[in-house]
Amino acid sequence: KPVIAIVGRPNVGKSTIFNRIVGERVSIVEDTPGVTRDRIYSSGEWLNYQFNLIDTGGIDIGDEPFLAQIRQQAEIAIDEADVIIFLTNGREGVTSADEEVAKILYRSKKPVVLAVNKVDNPEMRSSIYDFYALGFGEPFPISGSHGLGLGDLLDAVAEHFKNIVTEEYDEETIKFSLIGRPNVGKSSLVNALLGEDRVIVSNIAGTTRDAVDTSYRYEGQDFVIIDTAGMRKKGKVYESTEKYSVLRALKAIDRSDVVLVVIDGEEGIIEQDKKIAGYAHEAGRAVVIVVNKWDAVDKDEKTMKDFETNIREHFLFLDYAPIVFLSAKTTRRIHTLLPKIILASENHSLRVETSVLNDVIMDAVAMNPTPTDKGKRLKIYYATQVAVKPPAFAIFVNEPELMHFSYERFLQNRIRDAFGFEGTPIKIFARAR
Ligand code: GDP
Repeated sequence: KPVIAIVGRPNVGKSTIFNRIVGERVSIVEDTPGVTRDRIYSSGEWLNYQFNLIDTGGIDIGDEPFLAQIRQQAEIAIDEADVIIFLTNGREGVTSADEEVAKILYRSKKPVVLAVNKVDNPEMRSSIYDFYALGFGEPFPISGSHGLGLGDLLDAVAEHFKNIVTEEYDEETIKFSLIGRPNVGKSSLVNALLGEDRVIVSNIAGTTRDAVDTSYRYEGQDFVIIDTAGMRKKGKVYESTEKYSVLRALKAIDRSDVVLVVIDGEEGIIEQDKKIAGYAHEAGRAVVIVVNKWDAVDKDEKTMKDFETNIREHFLFLDYAPIVFLSAKTTRRIHTLLPKIILASENHSLRVETSVLNDVIMDAVAMNPTPTDKGKRLKIYYATQVAVKPPAFAIFVNEPELMHFSYERFLQNRIRDAFGFEGTPIKIFARAR
C-alpha cells in the first residue's frame, strides 16, 4: 500500500485532516485488551485506492526548538512516504515556517501535493493564490472542519500512486520482520540468521529510500527480511522518538507475512513489549515470539517453562504464537527459529476444506448447544472459509445478533483444535443467510 504523509507547521490542521481522511476507520474498536494504537498511522481508502496515512504532527520530537521540530517531521515524512500532502493555512497566508518546510520538501524530490486548509467558504478561495509561490503548483483549497475539497485533493494524490513502484516478491517467498524495543537484539538476530551458510541474494530497495529489505535463500526456501535498514539504523530521530519507531514497526508489520516479536530474555517482559506485540496481532499477521539473550540467563530445568508461563500470562491475545528461546550472540538454538517461521507462514495462508470445516462446526454444536436470546435460538446453517492471511471464516446463521461473543470464542477454539493454525490468528464472524 502506498504511504501518504501530512506535513506542515503546527496549527494548520494536520490531525483534523488526518481524521477526515481515515474517517470511521480510526474509531474501529480495539479487540486487544490493553493495547491502544497511536493514532499517527492509519489506513484509508479513496476510490479504488487503499493507502496508509501518517500524521507527522503526531510525532513528538521532544524539546527541540520550533523550527528543528518542523524540519524533523518533514524529514520523517520524506523518509517514510510515497506522496506528501503539504498542508498550509489559508487564514494566515504563507509564513516563513511554510517556506522552511517547502525548501526541505523541494530538495527531497518526492511528489508533493499542496493543500490550503481552513478555506471554509467560496469567498475565501482567492486567498489561495499566494500559495503558488511555494513552488508546488496548484494549491488545493480544503476545509478540514467542514470536510470540503478533500475529494479533489485525494484525486491529485492518487494520480501519483500510478508512478509508485511497489516491490513484488514471489508468492512463495516468506516475508518477515522483527519488532521489539531497542536493544532486545533485533540486529544481532538478523546477523545471526544471515550467518555463514545463508546466501544473501540481494538488497532490494523497496517503496522508500530507506526501506531496504534483505532477501536470502535457505534450504530451498526464499525469505525476505523486511526493513533491515530501519532495524539497523541507530541514533538520531530514529531510536529517540518512540512514536517514530512505532510508526516504522507498523509499516514493517504491514508488509510482512510473519512478525517476530523479540523479547529480551535477560531483562524479561515489560509493558512496552506487550504493546508492540499487540500491533502484530491486530494487523492479523502470523506471529512467532522470540526470547533472545537466552545465553545470559541463569537457568535450571524449570526456567524455560516458567518464562513461557510468564509470556502466556502477559500476551493472552497471542496464545497461538509459538515461542522460541535462543541466543543471537552465541547462535545457540537459532536453528529452531526458521522451522517456526515456515510453519506460521504456512498456517497463515492455509485453506481448509469446506466439508471438513462443516463437520467440525456441526460436532461443536452437538457438543455445546447454540445460545438463545429472548426465546430465540441461534441457528447455524453452514460455514465457509472466506479469506487467508489470516484465515477467516464466515458462519451463516439465522440472526447474527444471536451469536454471543463467548460462543464465537468456543467455535474459534474448535476450529483451532481441528486444524491447528499454530502461529496465526484466525477470524470468524456470523453472517445472515
Ligand atoms: P536491537 O536494538 O534490537 O537491534 O539490538 P542489538 O542487536 O543492537 O543488540 C543490543 C545489545 O544486546 C548489543 O550489545 C548486543 O551485543 C546484545 N545482544 C544481542 N543479542 C544477544 C544475545 O543473544 N545474548 C547476549 N548476551 N547479548 C545479546
